[in-house]
Amino acid sequence: RHSMKACNQFVADFEKVIKKPLKHFSKTYYTGVDLGTACVVLAVLDEDYKPVAGAYRYADVVRDGMVVDYIGAVELVRELKEELEQELNTELIYAAASLPPGTDELDGGAIKNVVQSAGFELTNLLDEPTAANRLLQVTDGAVVDIGGGTTGISIVENSQVIKVADEATGGTHLSLVISGAYKLTFEAAEKYKQNKQNHDELLHVLKPVIEKISSIVIQQTKGYNVDGIYLVGGTACLKNIETIIEKTTGIPTYKPTNPMFVTPLGIALSC
Ligand code: ATP
Repeated sequence: RHSMKACNQFVADFEKVIKKPLKHFSKTYYTGVDLGTACVVLAVLDEDYKPVAGAYRYADVVRDGMVVDYIGAVELVRELKEELEQELNTELIYAAASLPPGTDELDGGAIKNVVQSAGFELTNLLDEPTAANRLLQVTDGAVVDIGGGTTGISIVENSQVIKVADEATGGTHLSLVISGAYKLTFEAAEKYKQNKQNHDELLHVLKPVIEKISSIVIQQTKGYNVDGIYLVGGTACLKNIETIIEKTTGIPTYKPTNPMFVTPLGIALSC
């Protein structure tokens, strides 16, 4: 079981308020801070946990859950926070944040410090797949978060995350392949990849890397009773990536309409 329909509606509501914030009165606000390898997202919910505002920026301050530019990360989160505060005409106090699975001891402190130094009171720090599943509400299956630098796999049984793993293959590797095949700079390859009009053509070029992601999923789910794969993360935006993953794993594979904002919204819901 899962709540893909409700998840899609929630993300669609969030996409609307990114463009036009909802300025109604709320006693308190909850902010989800997602410090990703490619993108930093802030999602704001009101006291009823409904999306009211959001902002995101592509940045190179974190790599695979490791803060590589601490000052840059603090400045960026503070900047986005202030932008949202102005839009909502309020102060944002409470925030939750997340980490890729397995980086807890490694960098949990740095992520926590970034969020606090940007002026938030940190109420929760959880792992990314657990956050994503707050929205997906998968009761049994594997939540697969294909981000920039890594792919995170979490196995859910009876609504509980029972195993998490994170492996170093993600969107960055797809861009490197495009860069090589089309003789483009990495930045140009990223841009080319993110244009949905190029997705049909790109799928052939990217198939081997997607199959590599599938093999990671197969390996990490071995021995578990996984009968559904739920894709999230920016790289899951790639059209028909789910088709290749379903074919190579032999497991029915689902993805939300916009997999990009599932984790940040789940973080905000955990605030
Ligand atoms: P990580 O989870 O590895 O720390 P992250 O949280 O920054 O990284 P996401 O924001 O979930 O990861 O995804 C970023 C990746 O998604 C980048 O590689 C980016 O190129 C890719 N991406 C974003 N939009 C699209 C799109 N429309 N089509 C294909 N790929 C996309």
